[in-house]
Amino acid sequence: MKRGIVYFVGAGPGDKELLTIKGLNALREADVVVYDRLVNPVLLTETKESAKLIYCGKQPCKHTLRQEDIQKELLIHARKGKKVVRLKGGDPAVFGRVGEEAELLADNHVPYEIIPGITAGIAATMYAGVPITHREHSGSFAVVTGHTKTSDGKPDVKWKSLAESVSTIVFYMGVKHIRTIASELISNGKRADTPVMVSQWGTYSRQQTITGTLATIANLVEGQIQNPAIIVVGEVVKLRSKLNWFDNRMLHGKGILMPTSTIEEKEAAQHLRKLGADVYEHPKLTEYSTCLDNEVFEDIEHYEEIVFYSPKAVQTFLKEVGEREMDLRTLNACFYASNDETKTALRHAGHLVQEWVGIHEWKRALVIGSEIELDQSSPLQATKWVIAEKCVTNGEVTALSRLMEEGHVNTLIITSENEAQKLIAFFKLTGQSTAEWSNKLRVICMGPAASKRLAEIGLIADHVLDEESTTEEIALALAGNVVLAKGS
Ligand code: SAH
Repeated sequence: MKRGIVYFVGAGPGDKELLTIKGLNALREADVVVYDRLVNPVLLTETKESAKLIYCGKQPCKHTLRQEDIQKELLIHARKGKKVVRLKGGDPAVFGRVGEEAELLADNHVPYEIIPGITAGIAATMYAGVPITHREHSGSFAVVTGHTKTSDGKPDVKWKSLAESVSTIVFYMGVKHIRTIASELISNGKRADTPVMVSQWGTYSRQQTITGTLATIANLVEGQIQNPAIIVVGEVVKLRSKLNWFDNRMLHGKGILMPTSTIEEKEAAQHLRKLGADVYEHPKLTEYSTCLDNEVFEDIEHYEEIVFYSPKAVQTFLKEVGEREMDLRTLNACFYASNDETKTALRHAGHLVQEWVGIHEWKRALVIGSEIELDQSSPLQATKWVIAEKCVTNGEVTALSRLMEEGHVNTLIITSENEAQKLIAFFKLTGQSTAEWSNKLRVICMGPAASKRLAEIGLIADHVLDEESTTEEIALALAGNVVLAKGS
């Protein structure tokens, strides 16, 4: 019998790049992923297409999966021989229940491994400009839960020893009880002017931090910050005014959906990240090569035009020709390329390429490209050879809806008509509606053609930038330095 295994993986606090390489490898190989609410949803796109994804947060019926049910899921799938990843926010051992879950597996002789992660108390603190230890200000730190309660509803903490013996104290799950936490620390010996920081959604671009003192912090955060947030108490918090490297970046607070395909688009996404935005290269469509319909080739001599939509189309065509040991000189057709990249690919293969004359001039054409490319062209008078079909994986759909649900995104950037087309295809394939998107997202489009396409699915661009805009110009528009009327 195949033996399954469970990997407990710490996903880190938010910034997707804070996942370990070992964790990422486990995620990529997993057959089943059981994930928590605070895990960055975009990590789910790293899973295999066939992976089963199980969410432990609020279900559509508003119930949260109970701890016993989570443990049962781990056991059931591991016993079926599956590789299971239990993906947890931060580090699995810091208020992450890995002890209980691993114990159950040990009791049932199910193999497991534990892959640590970066905990919020250390990473979110540093992203807010506060090193948790410092030679002059902090020689010790403690992580404390603000959640376990005594019978009177207050956090169950030995306040006196904590206040007297630890330099920096980090409370997890404590925002609701911040008033109690501050007053207990003061009454047990901490000075009322001890610096305090509260940081929400740490390490995401939307990270928000408020600083004060034990005396003032409860009033300052009231109504301003909810979970997930950490509370950091100690002299070291003072360093934030000097070391705050993260929040000052130009695109701080921007969560961007930006479907990308070309190298330029991917570079632009990376550049916007460097300026401080979280950029999710979504929605994503995966393409699968399709089998050749033999009739297309049987008729090959009768076509007058063969039109290639991508370098991949050129390669696929030439491969088929080679396998059939066909002499291309016997063909009557002229070759056309729909864009410069494809033209170059044809020329490199030694073929003459005709100037593009437009679809209406075709007499008997064969068009070759992926489903998305051919959707966009929609030639009427042509036979289509679809070399790859589009599909959306479970991980991609789940990631996108979780990103929207958690409010991680506030902007949509569409860089070309092709990307607009991809977005439309995504909505068609998944049956989702754009209603929610129009209200929640600021839409930035490059070029009127892209914005016209978007309008087809009811998404009206807030800004239409020039098609040739540089990444700097996009960044300026994002930062709010370009004011244009909606749909202009
Ligand atoms: N295992 C996790 C903690 C789980 S308990 C870890 O090691 O980080 C959940 C609590 O962690 C939240 O209530 C909040 O206090 C804290 N937390 C998790 N992610 C956070 C983030 N990105 N920013 C601030 N606090 C976070």
